[in-house]
Amino acid sequence: MAPLYDYEDFLKLEEPYPLWCGQYTPGSGYMLHVQNPANGETIASAHTPSEEDVASVVEVAHKMYADGVWALASRQHRADVLDKAAELLAASLDKLIAWEVMQTGRPIREMKAQVPSLVRWFRYYAALLRTEERAVLPTMGSLHNWVDRVALGVVVQITPFNHPLLIAVKKLVPALAAGNSVILKPSELTPVTSLLLGPILTEAGLPEGVFSVLPGLGSTVGNWLVSHKLVRKVDITGGTNAGRAIGSIVGGNLARYTAELGGKAPLIVFQSASVDAAVNGIAFGSFIASGQTCVASTRILVHNSIIDEVRQKLILKAQSIVERMGSPFHPASTMGPVISDKQLRHIEALVKSALDDGAKLLHGGSRMRGTSSIDDTDFGKGYFYPPTILDLGSAAEPKAPIWKTSDSDLSIETRLWNEEAFGPVVVLVGFDNEPQAVGLANDTIYGLGAALWTTDLSQSFRISEHIRAGIVWVNTHHRNDPSSPWGGLTASSGVGSENGVEAYRAYTMTKSTIINYATTKECLDDDWFADDAKDVRYG
Ligand code: NAD
Repeated sequence: MAPLYDYEDFLKLEEPYPLWCGQYTPGSGYMLHVQNPANGETIASAHTPSEEDVASVVEVAHKMYADGVWALASRQHRADVLDKAAELLAASLDKLIAWEVMQTGRPIREMKAQVPSLVRWFRYYAALLRTEERAVLPTMGSLHNWVDRVALGVVVQITPFNHPLLIAVKKLVPALAAGNSVILKPSELTPVTSLLLGPILTEAGLPEGVFSVLPGLGSTVGNWLVSHKLVRKVDITGGTNAGRAIGSIVGGNLARYTAELGGKAPLIVFQSASVDAAVNGIAFGSFIASGQTCVASTRILVHNSIIDEVRQKLILKAQSIVERMGSPFHPASTMGPVISDKQLRHIEALVKSALDDGAKLLHGGSRMRGTSSIDDTDFGKGYFYPPTILDLGSAAEPKAPIWKTSDSDLSIETRLWNEEAFGPVVVLVGFDNEPQAVGLANDTIYGLGAALWTTDLSQSFRISEHIRAGIVWVNTHHRNDPSSPWGGLTASSGVGSENGVEAYRAYTMTKSTIINYATTKECLDDDWFADDAKDVRYG
């Protein structure tokens, strides 16, 4: 077998990773063991903090904020540090990519595309700091009233396993740009690359205590962090249950909250679409990251006039992906394992329940065994699941028990239609007209991502306006840019959004300063309690 692992040098690790608190520091909690989902082996360990460690990290972060070491540093200085971090991140890409592949099991092709793009978040928010203008308000009188944006204080950021670095960077860069002290709790499944960010930020010039990384479980470390009274904002990306549980604690502390939660994205293929382009789009939207993305296109709605062709071509595409599955480090590898055995069993249960409810299996449907055809990867040792396609039938012939009809609405009731599988599993549904397509697309508690495939321009405007989702892509899928808002439109998909100017503002408070530039005589004339006082005090 050709040597696949040019990355081995980066992955050597003998000692467990300590916590990052401006420098590597041992934690007094339990030891976390990180698994390679491609073969189940333990690849790293990380210290976790005790409850006392958590309290002391929060207090140091608060002191840094209160002393203004970073929060009151000039915006030019903060921008310089972010630009320097971008440079250092770019120089560390090989190591970060290698660890991201190792801990997530996502193919090297995906990580080589995703991780370098993170540099753009540092550059974007550095540029925002350099170019942001402050408003001067039309307050009446000889008053000069301007508005500043100031940091909130200590902010806690909690991230999931699927894009460990991307999501950490999306959150921490606007928070640091605004001058906050950030404590990051990465997923217990994938803490390594977040821990590697620490030295990069310190070398870039971030003062010690302004950025810390505390790995651990949500139920312990996560809970201790979000419950701390000095924490002024929590920002989580994770499942809807976690988002709801954390939100109730954060609300009790009157802290601010951003939550990027679950999704069940519809992807609609209209009659005018190029079938080949749409099938490529479905495969990308559904199977990238082994379907473990919040915007995975899991509900594929296809116009009945082209559904046979889409079905056939999608099956062929799924087969071609399976043929190139293997070690995530293989340069040709198309799809890796899912993150854990628990996740694999969850996917299996959802697929089984859909089949029990009457869905028809078109491709995949059970965990992979045997050996890869591109290398010697033993699928049985890891958590490999093939691209899986299930047919749920058509709105033209809505068959019970999956289909529920009322006078005005059509809806589908099987767990796989309603719940996130967070795996490479899609359902295919036929429709005859736009109202059916829109009704089915919106038949969900979620509202994060959605996609349309059509070459009819007016249709793309018309339909995107009616889709209840925070991000609608037309003839593309899963585009992400530092400038482009990313957030849900329904509560189950979250609160607030990431990226762009809004994410930066959500990490600030407004501070209004009003200076009276009247002469002393005018000030004296403005004496409210003067004997001959006028009764109008303007402005
Ligand atoms: P998860 O909810 O299991 O965990 C996410 C993070 O929250 C982890 O760090 C975990 O330790 C922590 N956590 C969980 N419960 C907690 C609690 N009660 N208190 C404090 N912390 C807690 O999610 P996951 O399995 O890592 O990720 C998958 C989920 O994330 C999916 O639902 C997916 O849709 C969602 N997600 C959303 C977006 C988005 O942008 N909206 C992006 C990626 C993933």
